[in-house]
Amino acid sequence: MDTVSIVWFKRDLRVHDHAPLVHAAAAGRVLPLLIVEPELWQQADASGRQYAFFRESVAELSAQLARRGAPLVIRVGEAAEVLAALVREQAVVAVHSHEETGNGWTYARDRRVAARLRELGVRWQQHRQFGVVRGLRERKAWVVQWERLMGEPVLASPVVLRAVASRSDSFPDWPALGGAGDACPERQPGGRAAGSALLHSFLSGRGRDYHRRMSSPLSAADACSRLSPHYAWGTLSLREVVQATRARKAALADDSGPEAGGFRRALTAYLSRLHWHCHFVQKLESEPAIEFRNVHRGYEGMREADFDAERFQRWCEGQTGWPFVDACLRMLAATGWINFRMRAMLVAVSSYHLWLHWREPGLHLARQFTDYEPGIHWSQVQMQSGVTGINIPRIYNPLKQSLDQDPEGRFIRRWLPELAGLPTPLLHAPWTADAATLARHGVVLDHNYPRPLLDHEQAARLAKQRLTAWRRRPGMREVNGEVLRKHGSRKRPLDRTIPRPQTQGDLFAGDA
Ligand SMILES: Cc1cc2nc3c(=O)[nH]c(=O)nc-3n(C[C@H](O)[C@H](O)[C@H](O)COP(=O)(O)OP(=O)(O)OC[C@H]3O[C@@H](n4cnc5c(N)ncnc54)[C@H](O)[C@@H]3O)c2cc1C
Repeated sequence: MDTVSIVWFKRDLRVHDHAPLVHAAAAGRVLPLLIVEPELWQQADASGRQYAFFRESVAELSAQLARRGAPLVIRVGEAAEVLAALVREQAVVAVHSHEETGNGWTYARDRRVAARLRELGVRWQQHRQFGVVRGLRERKAWVVQWERLMGEPVLASPVVLRAVASRSDSFPDWPALGGAGDACPERQPGGRAAGSALLHSFLSGRGRDYHRRMSSPLSAADACSRLSPHYAWGTLSLREVVQATRARKAALADDSGPEAGGFRRALTAYLSRLHWHCHFVQKLESEPAIEFRNVHRGYEGMREADFDAERFQRWCEGQTGWPFVDACLRMLAATGWINFRMRAMLVAVSSYHLWLHWREPGLHLARQFTDYEPGIHWSQVQMQSGVTGINIPRIYNPLKQSLDQDPEGRFIRRWLPELAGLPTPLLHAPWTADAATLARHGVVLDHNYPRPLLDHEQAARLAKQRLTAWRRRPGMREVNGEVLRKHGSRKRPLDRTIPRPQTQGDLFAGDA
């Protein structure tokens, strides 16, 4: 009998540049499988908006596979058991999938799957899809490996697949998985067609001023690629985007138009971020514990006991009383996306001004992001909380960000309609005005908009003092070296140690 290979689709919902599908097709008959795992979707970092994006992407994948003669088999259940049942049902000799650097739950699930398939004598071949290296011992050759993978030819999608028939379960609705309501009216649509359209518009014009317009949430929504959920769910492959971007850059080199030089610089900045993608995911791959524990273990205990549930709740709801911060939180709630700088500021505000341990705010943001990518997310959350020991802490000043990134208050007015009537200077800091002035413009503090949770300048000063005192504890500096060896980027030689801070101020990046 002709043998069967299962292609297990995980966070790689495409048929293009898909090594597992190509390998399975070359070996014989193919069973394309998608497992909806209820327990995965019940994890604290999962949300309805992610599920909606996932479901739309699966629908498109399913149509593409059907056109190739191999309808997607959808099963609901525990992955190891689903796979074992299919192995019993069909003459399965191999399972092909992409490597996944997911959260702690998927890591444990993959271990269970590996054990079960071993018992059944079925080979599980996992293929690389990002520039992440499994079992990496030394970061030195990492960039070379990234380049090699990204430079290999993009794999054509098989035109016809020889399939085996198997029953499908119906796709569960979000509430059937126990999911709570998660309204996200302006969420990006899932599916490869939406991703390809974004890539095209970015490379053909939208990305022209990427590097200059990425910082303000007003311009970033249009100037950034917006491809992050497509990388997270694999509707596009990183390699095809790297190659398309390089090709566009090369074409611009022959363009003598006035904008070509700037556009090339924008694409250079973009390509460096595609490196960062994998650089950050590698951190979680190399040390899965950083989802739960500080990268630098010396920071354990610094904030845990001070967790203030009310502060946290108001931060989640976009009710901190700092209009720019609240506008960012509300945009994120409504769209499932916000730009890098604002993500960093939101974590900095929760970590420094509100002195909250990063785990709960990190989970809230993970659920809010349609593009939640555990490796990037937890590494960045820790970095912006100042607990990695290898990054200079950056305490964003929410008022300065407001004035810099939204000088005319358009962003705040868009997301905080209750403040829309205020003149621009007051819009950034309504707490500085007297009650009568505010009332003339329709605002009553603590009635239709809250007073700030704290004095942000005092809170930032206190956070600096606490962090500085903690960093002076015995043993903190020695651990830095270990963290750097494991997680640092290899652009600089390894033996460069972290510069010794001269003064307290040197520990922090400016008045960001
Ligand atoms: C606290 C925090 C949490 C974050 N969580 C996530 C997350 O869960 N998922 C996620 O994809 N990104 C995350 N990022 C990184 C970054 O903010 C997003 O990748 C970016 O805003 C996504 O929008 P875009 O695709 O339009 O980005 P673009 O600016 O167009 O960038 C293109 C791609 O480069 C990568 N990239 C960009 N910036 C970074 C960065 N700083 N670090 C690593 N990779 C980067 C992403 O894959 C991104 O899609 C986080 C950043 C912070 C500060």
